[in-house]
Amino acid sequence: MNRSVLSACSERPAAPVVFRTVATIGKAARAESKGQKPVILWLTGLSGAGKSTIANRVEDMLWRCGHHTMLLDGDNMRFGLNKDLAFADADRVENIRRTAEVAKLMLEAGLIVICSLISPFRRERMLARQLVGEDEFLEVFVDAPLDLCKQRDPKGLYARALAGQIPNFTGISSPYEPPEAPEIHLRTDAYDVDALAGQVLDVLRHRGITACAP
Ligand code: ADP
Repeated sequence: MNRSVLSACSERPAAPVVFRTVATIGKAARAESKGQKPVILWLTGLSGAGKSTIANRVEDMLWRCGHHTMLLDGDNMRFGLNKDLAFADADRVENIRRTAEVAKLMLEAGLIVICSLISPFRRERMLARQLVGEDEFLEVFVDAPLDLCKQRDPKGLYARALAGQIPNFTGISSPYEPPEAPEIHLRTDAYDVDALAGQVLDVLRHRGITACAP
């Protein structure tokens, strides 16, 4: 551990008690050892829009091409790190903050991180983006009309929310703020999963993140 360069990260300049430790092995070295350019793909959209389905397909494609990846699924995070959080606005905000911080650590480990979370609020998505470098965060809007999501209802959640059994359900009793300028916009009502995952790979190729072709 290199403690020769320390910077205070306390908000109290008079008496900082926490110091940032600089690791000997940096982000660039970790990425280089994996032969890839790390990035966070942040998939946002309504429940049932297709985030998990596409995230899995994209990860599978990247994996087969030899990339080192990690999938962070919003629901799965709620079984562990975020199991103390519910779905009120403040809990959703904290859910995003923690997930973004984890994604940032994985980015620093040199991974291509695919995050799949409803993440309904623009402000929190912006905060997640601001945690990392400009080229390191790609917002992916997984877009399907609410009516189609209700029809798909893969987990039966819309039926329960419409019956009043789930409070604060996005799209029904809690708002969803669509991205205004996502790097990638996927219309899951118009294209199939393979085509959409292919669109993501196209963007990654253009940005020099992969040479992988579907
Ligand atoms: P989310 O993670 O956004 O809640 P899921 O991926 O769990 O959504 O569920 C989406 C459902 O819609 C799945 O049952 C999937 O098979 C279906 N589906 C149909 N067409 C598409 C498509 N083009 N892209 C993604 N999912 C689709």
